[in-house]
Amino acid sequence: MNPAALRAQLLAWYDANARDLPWRVGPKAHAAGVRADPYRVWLSEVMLQQTTVPHATPYFLAFTARWPTVAHLAAEADGEVMAAWAGLGYYARARNLLACARAVAADHGGVFPDTEAGLRALPGLGPYTAAAVAAIAFDEATNVVDGNVERVMARLFAVEEPLPDAKPELKRLAGGLVRDDRPGDWAQALMDLGATVCRPKAPLCDRCPVAGHCAALAGGAPESFPRRTAKTARPHRHGVAYVLTRGDEVALVRRPPKGLLGGMLALPTSDWRTGPWSEAEARAAAPAPADWRGVGEVEHGFTHFTLTLKLLRAEGEADGMIWTPRRGLAALPSVFLKAARAGLSNLL
Ligand code: SF4
Repeated sequence: MNPAALRAQLLAWYDANARDLPWRVGPKAHAAGVRADPYRVWLSEVMLQQTTVPHATPYFLAFTARWPTVAHLAAEADGEVMAAWAGLGYYARARNLLACARAVAADHGGVFPDTEAGLRALPGLGPYTAAAVAAIAFDEATNVVDGNVERVMARLFAVEEPLPDAKPELKRLAGGLVRDDRPGDWAQALMDLGATVCRPKAPLCDRCPVAGHCAALAGGAPESFPRRTAKTARPHRHGVAYVLTRGDEVALVRRPPKGLLGGMLALPTSDWRTGPWSEAEARAAAPAPADWRGVGEVEHGFTHFTLTLKLLRAEGEADGMIWTPRRGLAALPSVFLKAARAGLSNLL
């Protein structure tokens, strides 16, 4: 990895391919001395959190037509801004937007602070937005890292550590490429690369200006970065449910008051354990001696585990049961209703 060469290649690509966005001062104009309006940069960054450029653009145009400066926005009634925000979602963000606009108007004379630290002190303006506005509007050499930049770093450096644990390392790697030279263009070049070339799925590596530096591409599977922690398998437990009938009635029990489904009516069951039950084990654990027959099994998902209940069915008597007519089974918790229905119908 040669950071100087990588930077030069990405900035040259940005000079030729920068997206034309309504809040952006393109690289040519920027080189000629035009500076981005921090109000427009800030507004666009807030709108672009969690939504796409095509979706945010009409909102951006409507907001800036109606409220051309932060002072105009700050003076607006809450209800008007919230109504204009409708469709962008995340209304907390609109409230934060107004809180920030009003602080800029009231405490800073309508002028945004021109440093990352000063921006960070504003209410409702988070670390990412502060870094982005400071870089793009004020050319401060900040480290602007969002999900796109994390992905690009994970691929360029083939970072094996999975997300989210890798976040600090990805930020450190991104920071290692920041220089005082063109920090605003650099931040936007990385954004454009992540959005249009180094896409989450099917990255366009054959069009990538920094492909020669990319360790993930060299390894042959760039799309497999960033690594992600495999979802831990949901625990699985196994039990036996006993469907004991006496004519039209079914034997139920009341579960102990504490624990899962505590105090609720249930089919009699064995313990629930990690390993499956053999038929012989299931018979041995039955609530009464009877001519038990296996009638299949049901599976049920609880919040923290999945349960497989082997079903045994018999006709007979047992002590301590709550004998309930079949039509009364509808009051059972769903796992036992499912088991009772399966146990009874599998018999037919
Ligand atoms: Fe992303 Fe491919 Fe470029 Fe690597 S070569 S940075 S994976 S687009």
